[in-house]
Amino acid sequence: MPINSIISLFKEVLDNSSILLGEDLKSRFYHIWKTDISLESLCLLLPRSSEEVSAVVKICNDNNQEIVIHGGLTNLVGSTISTKTQVVVSLEKMNKIIEIDEKGKTITCESGVIIEDIINVVKDKDLLLPLNFGARGSAQIGGAVSTNAGGLRVFKYGMTRNLVLGIEAVLPDGTVISSLKKLMKDNSGYDLKQLFIGSEGTLGIVTKVVLRLYRLPKTRFTSLAVTNNYQNVLNLLKIMEDRVSSNLTGYELLWNDTYKQMVGDKTLYNKYLPDNYKYYVFIEYMGGDFENDYTHFESIILDCIDRRVIDDAVIGKDDKEQVNIWGIREDVAVLADERDFDQQFDISIPVPLIGEVIDKISLELKDCKGVKTIFPFGHVADGNIHFIIGKDSDDEDLKSKINDIIYNNTQLVNGSISAEHGIGLDKKKYLIKR
Ligand SMILES: Cc1cc2nc3c(=O)[nH]c(=O)nc-3n(C[C@H](O)[C@H](O)[C@H](O)COP(=O)(O)OP(=O)(O)OC[C@H]3O[C@@H](n4cnc5c(N)ncnc54)[C@H](O)[C@@H]3O)c2cc1C
Repeated sequence: MPINSIISLFKEVLDNSSILLGEDLKSRFYHIWKTDISLESLCLLLPRSSEEVSAVVKICNDNNQEIVIHGGLTNLVGSTISTKTQVVVSLEKMNKIIEIDEKGKTITCESGVIIEDIINVVKDKDLLLPLNFGARGSAQIGGAVSTNAGGLRVFKYGMTRNLVLGIEAVLPDGTVISSLKKLMKDNSGYDLKQLFIGSEGTLGIVTKVVLRLYRLPKTRFTSLAVTNNYQNVLNLLKIMEDRVSSNLTGYELLWNDTYKQMVGDKTLYNKYLPDNYKYYVFIEYMGGDFENDYTHFESIILDCIDRRVIDDAVIGKDDKEQVNIWGIREDVAVLADERDFDQQFDISIPVPLIGEVIDKISLELKDCKGVKTIFPFGHVADGNIHFIIGKDSDDEDLKSKINDIIYNNTQLVNGSISAEHGIGLDKKKYLIKR
């Protein structure tokens, strides 16, 4: 269909300010890390309601027009890139919080609400949305649902799937299907919402969600601990699980090169501990006993040092210290900024094997001409490790070589090529190795 004809159809269902074309696309982009590259698209549509999303999708379906959906543009798998012939539908104007049910511990909102905004608004009501990852200030809840995002508290609270109670979505023909119930248990037939969680927009556009919330813990402490031995990373995890139990909400790991980069001259992060250890473990404790939690947590950390499970540790008590410590783990843009070209990975490996598998992968990558930096880090307690691999060129052979090293080693231990980021366009070719 001629461009002008389809645009005039969009004008019948959206007001002019919700349709961006031509010059207006120059200031738009397809990823938060690529703001210097203008968006390529036939047009960018900014619907304000489910009805508008439905009308737009119906027009596209009737005219065989491809759509790319934009949430917060923080994905790491090339899933929001578009071409000049595709229509982009962004959910950013659908950012209303519809209801917070304090007694029922749920929130109902539109899918374009930024995750951090939900975290903050429910915090004021003594409630917690446990979804927590570095991109929470930009990622939208619809994006998190569509990718089944994980993050730093998965082993305690589960992936996004565990937090979704209800969904409204627009199907490819424009039909709106809605189940916005606030129920934890509902076995009355097929649970259709599960299909939309993690399907990366392939089955429809998520327009509203109901999320489950938790009571806000009264205390929160963070420790950064070091060791040179992966077995001790596991020993420390076991001790924490035994003695802290359900108060253990985060257990993350950085390897030496990654830590060095995060606390190096180019960042503002404090080097809390020397940079000559092999492993840096980040522990989050959240509890309910204001009087005793800190002493309890501290005594366990000190005991682990005495027993030489860890070599040293610091504990962040106040907000400022904790923001700083977690910045070292979360601010991974620092790692991606190091080189002009990089490749990102998000693999799952059985937890006991992580130490040896990452050593093997790192050795093979070091032997690979063209690889400049290797930064492993991740959610060690749930077996999900990321790599950001820096290169000086975008050479396709090098790209394939790196993919093969990572994915073949992952496959050898029955791992997964995508733990939480999804497939996007980047990993499509490798789905066969799932
Ligand atoms: C610094 C950083 C840290 C990160 N850490 C983590 C982490 O710990 N865990 C993790 O899981 N991910 C992480 N990510 C990846 C990313 O933040 C998540 O995948 C996030 O869920 C994407 O949300 P978004 O709103 O940005 O979606 P986008 O990037 O805009 O889109 C992601 C996919 O979902 C589709 N989509 C978006 N909105 C909708 C909708 N309403 N309906 C249907 N489809 C839709 C898009 O078309 C695309 O396929 C990180 C990213 C960065 C940059």
